[in-house]
Amino acid sequence: MSDTDMAQSYDTIVVGAGFAGLTAARELSRGGQSVLVLEARDRIGGRTWLDRRLGMELELGGTWVHWTQPHVWAELSRYGIGLAPSPVPENAYWWDGSKLAAGSADELLELLDEPNQVLTASSREVFPQPFRPLSTSVGEADSRSLADEIAALPISAERRALLESFWTLNFNGNIADAAFTQALRWVSLTNGDWKVNFEACATYKIAGGTRALAEAILQDTPADFVFGADVRDITQDQSSAVVTTVDGTDYSARDVILTVPLQTLSRIHFEPALPQPVSMAADRGQLGLGVKAWFTVEGEHRPFVALGGSDWPLNFFQSEYVRDGLTYVIGFGPDASALDPNDPEAVQRVLNRLVPDLRVTASVGHDWVGDEFSKETWPMHRTGYLSGSLPALQQPLGRIRLAGSDIADGWGGFIDGAIESGLKAAHGVLTASRPVAA
Ligand SMILES: Cc1cc2nc3c(=O)[nH]c(=O)nc-3n(C[C@H](O)[C@H](O)[C@H](O)COP(=O)(O)OP(=O)(O)OC[C@H]3O[C@@H](n4cnc5c(N)ncnc54)[C@H](O)[C@@H]3O)c2cc1C
Repeated sequence: MSDTDMAQSYDTIVVGAGFAGLTAARELSRGGQSVLVLEARDRIGGRTWLDRRLGMELELGGTWVHWTQPHVWAELSRYGIGLAPSPVPENAYWWDGSKLAAGSADELLELLDEPNQVLTASSREVFPQPFRPLSTSVGEADSRSLADEIAALPISAERRALLESFWTLNFNGNIADAAFTQALRWVSLTNGDWKVNFEACATYKIAGGTRALAEAILQDTPADFVFGADVRDITQDQSSAVVTTVDGTDYSARDVILTVPLQTLSRIHFEPALPQPVSMAADRGQLGLGVKAWFTVEGEHRPFVALGGSDWPLNFFQSEYVRDGLTYVIGFGPDASALDPNDPEAVQRVLNRLVPDLRVTASVGHDWVGDEFSKETWPMHRTGYLSGSLPALQQPLGRIRLAGSDIADGWGGFIDGAIESGLKAAHGVLTASRPVAA
């Protein structure tokens, strides 16, 4: 490793400045280490991104947090950041597989209640310790697909259609290969209550947006940051690692914390190569391959939600703001290739299948799946991932530790999981590098 002498040297290099990377960098630099953060984009936040669109500050990625999420909650308390509740939905529209229906949001929740209770009844049995997801043997449950579990439930075709669409929303992808354990894991984190879990997914935003929390952590982090630093190679030996960016710059460190999304791992060349279970997990990837769209419709409407068919380009809508004669609505769909969120006519077509009278005036969104630095939305696991891949991804790989929402113990797929994983990776580095007492 002759280049090591030439490279700028640090105790630890953190790759990625999303919530996992920011948290890890703060912990390490405040723990006395020299830390360099290499971030490919020109901004912090990763898969969270508060940006000015349609005349407002809108969250294009991760948004909602909840009191059942201990890591993000502690960060909000630490920096004195409050919450901005989303409106409580009043009206609802839904597609039951053969016809359109409308009613109150409570009616729609009621239709989903019993099937969801039956589906997730074993959540605390399979996950008695939600933050230790492998404390019991999940092997058998982990090989079962959520789609098969839903198909086997003794419920009407209408309820099944609603349930499939609800979990397609949660996975932000097609549930044919979705791990049943992932659904159980989510619900175990809210003590077996799927309604509280749903509340966790779409009720409380961060005051000032996700940017407020990301910037608070950044301000608290005496580390060096390089933006536009797209890491392409990581070479390690027994004493150090050299991280090389696409422009050929080398940086060296004793340890590396790599927080890039799982789907993007294969963009980086590793020497020695990654263990097979890790590279296989990256190749197989996650299921969150969908889309989030923001759009405005004419008129100031009472808060509503709408649940369409599981194979529609947008299968869920939630109105968020009213302003200046417009209602701002969020839509989610399971397949990023099926809808361009920046095409208002495409959004209009699918919205009108559920709510015929609404007229879309503009729409925006970011293509997270097409974005080479994410390639996925929120990481939702395939069958076998939990038992077959997660243990390998959580092991130190020589001088490299993986971190990020993909590999959290608890709220994997959420901001909370990213923070949890960043904390744990930093703790691992700090304890491993601490001198042994004489
Ligand atoms: C549309 C959408 C909606 C979501 N909704 C919610 C929600 O409501 N609530 C919630 O809790 N979570 C939500 N999430 C999930 C949440 O945003 C993520 O789980 C979390 O932000 C991931 O953080 P991370 O640090 O693990 O990864 P990331 O945020 O992806 O950070 C990884 C960083 O690594 C950088 N990077 C990648 N490759 C390289 C490279 N080669 N070299 C250098 N840098 C690189 C990336 O640019 C990025 O900044 C949502 C996500 C999306 C996309």
